[in-house]
Amino acid sequence: ARQFTRPLNDLSNQFNTLLSAVAGAERVFDILDEHEEAANEKQATAITQLRGKVEFKDVSFAYEQGGDTVSHLNFRASPGESIALVGPTGAGKSTIINLITRFYEPVNGSIMFDDQNSKLITRDSLRNHMAFVLQDSFLFQGTIRENIRYGRLNASDEEVEQAAIDANAYSFIKRMPNGFDTELSQDGAGISQGQKQLLSIARAILADPSILILDEATSSIDTITEIKIQEALKRLMKGRTSFIIAHRLNTIQQADQILVIESGQIIENGSHDNLLKKRGFYHDLFQNQIKKVRAKAIP
Ligand code: ATP
Repeated sequence: ARQFTRPLNDLSNQFNTLLSAVAGAERVFDILDEHEEAANEKQATAITQLRGKVEFKDVSFAYEQGGDTVSHLNFRASPGESIALVGPTGAGKSTIINLITRFYEPVNGSIMFDDQNSKLITRDSLRNHMAFVLQDSFLFQGTIRENIRYGRLNASDEEVEQAAIDANAYSFIKRMPNGFDTELSQDGAGISQGQKQLLSIARAILADPSILILDEATSSIDTITEIKIQEALKRLMKGRTSFIIAHRLNTIQQADQILVIESGQIIENGSHDNLLKKRGFYHDLFQNQIKKVRAKAIP
């Protein structure tokens, strides 16, 4: 549970505040780990391997008493598939991620990992097979090397550097005053938003997870860095099941499956081409996006 110990919305808000108070990364996560989570089921055992098949069977969930936040969710991701979650704000995309990462448990229905009910798997052992690349990549005060190594604490220097190469981060790191030993401040001042993303991709590559959670950046990043990020993500995603809260048309178009979420339900599900043919909600969403892109292109 090194990569994350907080539900999605909390994570970006709280991480930096907490980090500023503490030096060592492990200690921070000890603190974060104290957040309230139901105990593992008595029968739960640790898994050592995960291929990455994920299945929701009639999953419903509510944060509080009252209406369901998501209801009757059914979908299946095969190992290595990429799944884009799209839909309006408040639709339930982050909630689905919080269920996959088991920050919350379904009220009804079940989530299966490699055909095993999640309740029979300990949370920590499951999360050891997951990694996050978030909009606000969470960096801590320490060197670039330490920040990447956070993905896998026992990684050698060579492995850290290889991860940086695979993440297209190597050349910018080498240009820093002290290369991999350059100190970052806790908010990552001194490097760009895009470079932060590359570092968090390097960290995820090092973690070598079977399941990836990507929260795509909404902010604009310069074109060259953006290309580097896309390339590195493609490499990272290969062979891993990825769930992407997607904002870019490109990403959505390339996903193996698109789940269109509205008011806590999957209202459409399929590939880009299939969904366009249906001429339903996704079709309209897509047409609107295209109009926006065109409008922007005209000065
Ligand atoms: P966005 O695109 O804005 O991030 P989303 O599709 O990810 O939205 P969620 O964040 O999953 O949507 O929110 C779904 C609903 O659940 C919203 O009505 C939201 O206010 C509510 N919600 C989210 N987190 C919590 C929480 N921790 N406690 C109570 N309600 C919550």
